[in-house]
This record gives sequence, structure tokens and C-alpha cells, in this order.
Amino acid sequence: MKNLGKNAADNKKNNRGKVLGLIATGRCRTRRDLVDLMGLTKVTISNIVSDFQEKGILMEDEKLSLDKAGRRPVNIKISPSAPRIVGLLVIRDRVEVVLCDFYLHIEYREKVILEHPTEQELIRIICRLVENAIGKAEKVIGIGVSSLGPVDSGDGIIMEPPYFYGIGRLPIVSILETKFSLPVRIHQDNESGALEEYYYGNGKGHESLMLVGIERGVGCGIIKDGKIYSGFHRLSPEIGHVSIDYKGRKCICGNRGCMELYVNSEELKARFEKTFGKGKSLEEYISMQDIPEMDELMDDIMEKLSAGISSTINLLNLDLVILGYDGAYISEKYLNLLERKINEKIFNSSRMTVVVKKPYYLQDAQLLGAVCNILQPVFDGDINIP
Ligand SMILES: [Zn+2]
Repeated sequence: MKNLGKNAADNKKNNRGKVLGLIATGRCRTRRDLVDLMGLTKVTISNIVSDFQEKGILMEDEKLSLDKAGRRPVNIKISPSAPRIVGLLVIRDRVEVVLCDFYLHIEYREKVILEHPTEQELIRIICRLVENAIGKAEKVIGIGVSSLGPVDSGDGIIMEPPYFYGIGRLPIVSILETKFSLPVRIHQDNESGALEEYYYGNGKGHESLMLVGIERGVGCGIIKDGKIYSGFHRLSPEIGHVSIDYKGRKCICGNRGCMELYVNSEELKARFEKTFGKGKSLEEYISMQDIPEMDELMDDIMEKLSAGISSTINLLNLDLVILGYDGAYISEKYLNLLERKINEKIFNSSRMTVVVKKPYYLQDAQLLGAVCNILQPVFDGDINIP
């Protein structure tokens, strides 16, 4: 039987990772903050910080600022010499790579638009991009992958995504680990994006949230109590297949009236074209507002989205919804409308108010989420910094 207990060495790794996470995500700035938030002794925190300073991962900031008690605590920050992280996004239309520091600053990025690649061509593109990114850094801790689903994140495999050039069961984690001898972690793209928003974006301060990505389908990633929430075989939740009409159109999943049949990007574009004429991109249509026809269309679209989202919220009681991918183009006016509609529909509305936002990193949320797929195990002490 697996030993579920934690020993002292585990705890030490855990605390070290946590210190890095709290500094990198701006939740703590000083040793005092770390002591207060982590509940450890001053000596323990000082030892961890000194060790990271010696290794060139943390450093003291020269800028001093007065705290509330009139002291001048020394700010701790991530050192420029700390290792970097590679993030890789694999989705239907493109492969994109970034090299980031612990603050999620992008130091290098490169992308390739996919034009019907074979599996071998796709692997070659991926390896070339990752190699280029690694080449820009002195030290890299690992490679995070954010991929279109379904993804088996336990075995590190991109399963059989629909409309993905017939490519499936791609063991991307073992391919990258073998080629680059670095730790590799993968999650579905919206789960990765949700993780990124939780640590660095608009999810700060929330322990649970949902990122809903509107594209050819509608996917989601859910963070519950600070962790990615998944089920059987770590498959991600599928909000697009929550039915909003049991007598509705038949879906490929077997159900009827699934939300994604009505609010996917192609369906939305077709509706805008029918009303306003062809010739604009989805982004241009979606950013239109203060036109009566648009108000009417958006009222219907937000009604449908709120039906599927509120059903999901009633199961999990999440108080933050972030709309990503093409949803990030939706203007504040209609996001507020969606927020109102969701709050009208949830059971716990007297105890909880749901907030709807765009991702802080907008269209880059899922790409930067790839980086967080490595940072989370680092912050949890599961990946050691060399
Ligand atoms: Zn369905």
C-alpha cells in the first residue's frame, strides 16, 4: 500500500517550494510575510531564504519601504540568475513556445501555424521550438505543456482530439523527457490557463475558480482549493457538454442541447454574419456594442452561457468565472450581463456572488499556463530546483 504519510524531508521540500511560490506570485515580499503566512519560525524561514540566496535563486531587493510598524523590512525577490521555465502550447491551429522567468515574464516566444501536419512533422516542429527556447536560457527547470484535449495528464499523452489531423495518442511527455532530459508536465489547455490565472492572474485571492474557453468547442479548467479538479483518469471536466436543452440538437457526445452547440466560436461568427453581414473577424464582431441588434444577440448568447455555467457552479460552488480564448474579446458590458444572469440562476446566490472576468493574460492565458504546469510542482516541492 502507498504510504500517504509525509516525512520530515518531504516537509522540507514542501516548505522550500512554498517559499518560492509565495515570493514569485507576489503573495509575500519579506521574511516577515513568509513567517506570518506559512506559520513557520523565523529561523526556518531565514534558513530557507539564505540557502536560495546562496544558490542564486533569491536575492534581497535594495529598495526599502517602511511597513505599518515603521520598520524597514528587506524585500526578497527572485534573482535574475534563477533558472527559467519553458512552456509549450499545442492547439489545433498552432504550436507556440515561451521561455519565462518565475514572474511569468516572457523572455522569448516563437510559434508555428499548423497546416495539416503528419504526426512526425508535428513532433519535429515541437522539438525544434522547445530546443530554440532552451537555447535562450542558461538553466531550465522543466518543460510545461498545455494542450488541446482530451489529455491524459497522468501518463502524459495527448489522446484523440477531434479535428486534429488524425493525430492521437501522442506520448508527448515521454518524447520531450527523452530528448531534453528535463521534467515535463502536461495539462489540458484550459486547465493550464486556470492554473495560471490562479497563481498569477485574476484568480489571485480565490481558492476555487473556473476558466471557460470559447473556441471551436467550449472547454473549461477548474481549480478547486488550489488544485486542478479532474475526475476519472484525470480527464478534465467538459462544460461544453452540459446540456441547456434536453430536447435540443443532438451532440457528438450522445446528449442533446449541449452548451457548446450554441456558443462555440463558429456558431457565434455565423450568427454575427447573418445579422451584420460578412467581412469581419470574430474579434471585430464581438467587440461591437451599443447597437440594438448586438444587445439582442448578446442577451441570447449570455443567456445560454449562463445556463451551462450556473449548472456547473451549483455543483461546485465556484465564485469566479474567467472567460478565455475568443471569450476574452467580449466587452465588459456583456461580461457584466453574463455575471448578472449567472447570479440570477445560482442556488446559493444569497450566500455567494459569482464574479465574471477576462483572463489577466487574455489570449496568452493557456500558453502561460504551460509554464505553470512546471511551476506548480516546483511550488509544491515535487520538482527540485537544480
Ligand atoms: Zn455534448
